[in-house]
Amino acid sequence: MSSAPEGKLEGKVALVTGASSGIGEATARMLAAEGAAVAIAARRADRLRALGDELTAAGARVHVIALDVTDEEAVRSAVASTVETLGGLDILVNNAGLMLLGPVEDADTTDWSRMIGTNLTGVLHLTHAALPHLLRGQGTVVQISSVAGRVAVRGAAVYNATKFAVNAFSESLRQEVTERGVRVVVVEPGTVETELREHITHAPSKAAIEERVAKIRQLRSTDIAEAVRYAVTAPPHVMVGEIFIRPTDQA
Ligand code: NDP
Repeated sequence: MSSAPEGKLEGKVALVTGASSGIGEATARMLAAEGAAVAIAARRADRLRALGDELTAAGARVHVIALDVTDEEAVRSAVASTVETLGGLDILVNNAGLMLLGPVEDADTTDWSRMIGTNLTGVLHLTHAALPHLLRGQGTVVQISSVAGRVAVRGAAVYNATKFAVNAFSESLRQEVTERGVRVVVVEPGTVETELREHITHAPSKAAIEERVAKIRQLRSTDIAEAVRYAVTAPPHVMVGEIFIRPTDQA
């Protein structure tokens, strides 16, 4: 009887933030299917537990972490407990994010603090905490940035600012660590069908984006997980630096 083919990530350990829905959840499933042990982190622990049970039943090693990425101490503990529980850290997927669209004028600036804390400061602290482990094992950091990290548009100023900042940080980090074998991958999706838009507090911006996306075939979370698969399963000498992926219908 022939055994099932080995996944390309057997023996690797991955940590995925924002794994309770959307792109993070799809990416965690993909990584587990490729044989990685997966730490799944987000605030909604009930969702993570359900995903964890499913992945465990399918044979994966899973570590569930209730985590708010805006809490630096909690971020450091999350990385430490991943290493302790799963035996290392080879792949960090910085995916947790918020897209609170709206004009600058009259903005609710608590939206700005939440986005900066989650999309930018959270990414910085996670990367910093994970880096010693990634350097030890020649690991990979995957940043789920956005088309919004390359192209600024009206009504997305602070979301754009956070994602541009992630791209700048990632290019500088790449130059710092690439010759020591650590790969820094930036994935920049266009519109993906997820819960992301549900959190927009500025009602006209929410209505406008809902109207726009209703007219197109959106990307699926699994499309982005496939892009991550391509980058993280590439041979170690191949650094897939940037993947820009849009819906065909999005002009
Ligand atoms: P979802 O809203 O489905 O997922 C966002 C995830 O981030 C959730 O799991 C959420 O979990 C988590 N999250 C939010 N805030 C925090 C926090 N403070 N601490 C920990 N986890 C947090 O949306 P997507 O899957 O679309 O978003 C994932 C990433 O993809 C984001 O960075 C987003 O900017 C990016 N992206 C999305 C696009 C799209 O069109 N959907 C396009 C381009 C990029 P919980 O609430 O349980 O904490």
